[in-house]
Amino acid sequence: MILFDKVTKFYNGGPAALDDVTIKIEPGEFVSIVGHSGAGKSTLLKMIFAEEAPSEGAVYFDDCEVCQMNKLDLNSLRRRIGAVFQDFRLLPKKTVYENIAFAMEAAGKTDEEIEADVPYVLDLVDLSEKMDNFPHELSGGEQQRIAIARAIVNQPDVVVADEPTGNLDPISTHEVVQILKKINDLGTTVILSTHNKDVISSLGKRVITMDEGRVARDDSSGHFAL
Ligand code: ADP
Repeated sequence: MILFDKVTKFYNGGPAALDDVTIKIEPGEFVSIVGHSGAGKSTLLKMIFAEEAPSEGAVYFDDCEVCQMNKLDLNSLRRRIGAVFQDFRLLPKKTVYENIAFAMEAAGKTDEEIEADVPYVLDLVDLSEKMDNFPHELSGGEQQRIAIARAIVNQPDVVVADEPTGNLDPISTHEVVQILKKINDLGTTVILSTHNKDVISSLGKRVITMDEGRVARDDSSGHFAL
C-alpha cells in the first residue's frame, strides 16, 4: 500500500508543486495520474521512491515512511519498484538482451535466473525477435516496451511509469498501455502519469486528476476531466 498523507512540496521558494495531497493506492491497483504539464505528476511519482522529499506531510510504502528509511531500506524499497520514463533510458551500447540482463545483474541475480527470465519478459512485451538488436535499431515504441521489460524483470511490486507514452505515436502508445495493463492483470500495481486523454479513456481504471498541485478529482473508473 502506498499512502500520500497531506503532502505539500515547495521547490526553492516557488509556489506549491504539491498542495495538501492525500492519496491511497492499494496493492494490485492500476492508477493513472493525469493533469496538464506542471500539475505535479512527476513530483508525486518521484516521492514514491524518495527521489524528492515532501516539505510537509509524509509518503508511506507499506506503513514505512519513505523519507525516514536508511540507505539499506531505501535500496530494498527501490528494488520493489520498477521505473519507466518518457525518454526510455536504455543503455545505448548494450543489446536489448544485455540491457535487461544488466538490471538483473545489478540486483544480484544468478546467470541461471538471467537466462530464464530475460526471454520471459521479452516474450511478455512481444519483442523476443529483437533480443540481439541495439536500442537505436528499434522504434520509440519498441524501446519503451524494452524499458518496461527491464522494469519488471526483477518482479517489482509496483511499476511507476512517468509519461511513458509522451514521445510515442498513437499506435505505439496503445501497445505500451496494453502491456502495462497486462502487467497489472498479472498482479503488479501500476501507477501511470500522462496528459494523454486517449490513453486513459480506453482503460476504465482509477484516474486521479491533478491541477496546480492539488487532487482535483479521484475517479474509480476512468474519467479524464481537464
Ligand atoms: P508535471 O509532471 O505534472 O509536469 P512536475 O511535478 O514536473 O509536474 O512539476 C510541478 C511544479 O514543480 C512545476 O511548477 C515545476 O516547474 C516545478 N518543479 C518540478 N521540479 C522542479 C525542480 N527540480 N526545481 C524547481 N521546480 C520544480
